[in-house]
Amino acid sequence: MRAAVISDIHANLPALEAVLEDLSDREQDEIWCLGDTVGYGADPDRCVELVREAADVCLVGNHDLAVLGELDTATFSAAAATAVNWTRANSSGETLAFLAGLAPLETSRDAALYHASPRDPIWEYVLWPDQAAECLAVQEARVSLVGHSHIALFFSIADGENASSGSAEARGWQAGAGTELELAADRWLINPGSVGQPRDGDPRAAWLELDTEGWRATYHRVSYDIDKAAQAIVDSGLPPHLGKRLFAGQ
Ligand code: ZN
Repeated sequence: MRAAVISDIHANLPALEAVLEDLSDREQDEIWCLGDTVGYGADPDRCVELVREAADVCLVGNHDLAVLGELDTATFSAAAATAVNWTRANSSGETLAFLAGLAPLETSRDAALYHASPRDPIWEYVLWPDQAAECLAVQEARVSLVGHSHIALFFSIADGENASSGSAEARGWQAGAGTELELAADRWLINPGSVGQPRDGDPRAAWLELDTEGWRATYHRVSYDIDKAAQAIVDSGLPPHLGKRLFAGQ
């Protein structure tokens, strides 16, 4: 199975269009979206429509759930909470119905998919090796994919070696564009990065190419029209800061 893995689109239409065009240049059997299709950006309906058409799997993320009123925004930043309310008021019934039908995890594929983490599919940000080791210990699949942190990174732990006790140390790295992973051995927790709001210092939209027969993965980054996405945020009355941060990839 060749899968293109995308995550955290956050209603950024220019970024999503650029990623869909880039991945269409390569052969894919399926497209997997790890959630947070909306929230922050100005084009929730069009992004959901494109994901509905293109993705074979789409998870629900914490921002999607907040827009649906199923998750409290008390722990969200002020700008994020404002964006949640704006998105709820500016999304069609079809968009909300689609998001309401999604789950935060999917474990029937060759790799397990979670929006946030294997032990907390909605909320946990997996950023540190000790924490990743605990997640790698509880994940049923050998390879898991997570989104949520908006940082392209990966962790691995040796197969068998205390993996199930959670006491083994995971190795972890941030993954720049072009990073290739050999996944045939060991256990892995992989984040493709964010399509619509990268936070790892590279403002380009991120996606991951995964081959579950050869067990290889390649990280991709795609330039897109950030001016257009930022202007749409300003024009829609969303906090302008949400547009500015796109230029820095933060
Ligand atoms: Zn997100």
